[in-house]
Amino acid sequence: AAKEEGKDRGSFYEPAMELEQLRLQAMRERIAQALQQSHLQLLFQPIVYIDGLPGLHGVAGMEALLRLNDAGQELVEPAKFMHVLDDPQLARPIGRYVLDEALRCCQSWMRAGISIPVSINISTRHLLHPAFFTDIDAVLDTYPDVMDVGFGIEVTETGPSMDHSRAKVVIEECRRRGIRVGLDDFGTGSASLSHIQQLDIEHIKLDQSFVRDILSDERNMAIAAGVITTARMLAKTVIAEGVEKAEQGDLLASLGCHQLQGFSISRPMPAAAVPGWVAGWVPPASWGNLVNERQS
Ligand code: C2E
Ligand code: MG
Ligand code: MG
Ligand code: MG
Repeated sequence: AAKEEGKDRGSFYEPAMELEQLRLQAMRERIAQALQQSHLQLLFQPIVYIDGLPGLHGVAGMEALLRLNDAGQELVEPAKFMHVLDDPQLARPIGRYVLDEALRCCQSWMRAGISIPVSINISTRHLLHPAFFTDIDAVLDTYPDVMDVGFGIEVTETGPSMDHSRAKVVIEECRRRGIRVGLDDFGTGSASLSHIQQLDIEHIKLDQSFVRDILSDERNMAIAAGVITTARMLAKTVIAEGVEKAEQGDLLASLGCHQLQGFSISRPMPAAAVPGWVAGWVPPASWGNLVNERQS
């Protein structure tokens, strides 16, 4: 009977699955075309120091976030094309676009008198690609000044791939070039702080899911506190992402988190808006008080 049921279910769900396959394939084509026609775009979201100063000295860096811009004003977010970011054929061309565009923008900020580090998200597919350092070195040659300011990559642990022995070598190669390596979405996957130590990763980004209800959920607050304390003992920097409310930032500051990122600080913005935003950045007074309290 179970077999019969399974059969029925199969024939019932198949058309829906085919439709989903078509939808994924159509988006893949759309991104491939956007690459050809320069219809990809980067937005930048600031990461700020909890104990920083107003203006440039309070801003730790800008993270590049990819958008598809092929339909007029409405930008399409990566949630709609996550599968394409790791596509065997497209991961590298997308990665090359992001590398080149992010460093080009960083250089243009320098010309505007703002020397601010830039970071990008790298798909594991590109990171572990044999030509990854060909792409990295090409872009470092084109924009050599960016390395004086600071360039970082954020990697996400997807499945077992970051356990790959190649990951360690790749991270060492990055560090040798002065590229900062961070682990994104920390706490959602299988990476532990001991992995972080072994892989010589410089900073971790505490995932939004812990930050979202940190004020109401004691368990998430306990996890965040534990991660921050342990990371500090290992001399790793902790960045909290998804800080939507000032009170979340206050709590993270009191727990010893080093840097914050989220809508309460700024939404992602076009590259041209970055110098003005940085010049006008003023950290909330409450963070300073909390940092001082913790230290005394
Ligand atoms: P991520 O690297 O963890 O980036 C954080 C995401 O959270 C961004 O979404 C950002 O816009 C969003 N975010 C920031 N602050 C807040 C907040 O306070 N509240 C909420 N609800 N969300 C916030 P986005 O730009 O849609 O990117 C989603 C993911 O797509 C990224 O997660 C990253 O994994 C991937 N991604 C983005 N750009 C690239 C890229 O250039 N290359 C690759 N390979 N992946 C990228
Ligand atoms: Mg990221
Ligand atoms: Mg993240
Ligand atoms: Mg994320």
